[in-house]
Amino acid sequence: MREVRVGEVPPSGGTAVQDDAERPVFRGNGPDDYVCVSCGNVLASGMDALYMTKKVRVRCGRCRTVNVAITDESPAGDPRLLARARRETAGS
Ligand SMILES: [Zn+2]
Repeated sequence: MREVRVGEVPPSGGTAVQDDAERPVFRGNGPDDYVCVSCGNVLASGMDALYMTKKVRVRCGRCRTVNVAITDESPAGDPRLLARARRETAGS
């Protein structure tokens, strides 16, 4: 996780708020846990990286930092767009 930049989050965008600092907002069966960039609190556990895009934002229940899942270095994006890109590459 990393901290969200000012202006990066669209005003209409939603942010998941962690009500209980002891309980992850999201739980899945994937390989990755996501922790708060500021305090290391677990925000989401068992997530698949493909689904942790810029649209996924979580406000930490402990320190109130708003985290986004992907970093600038991460190739992760919308799984649907990635699938489309693969199809277009294969067709040419
Ligand atoms: Zn935190």
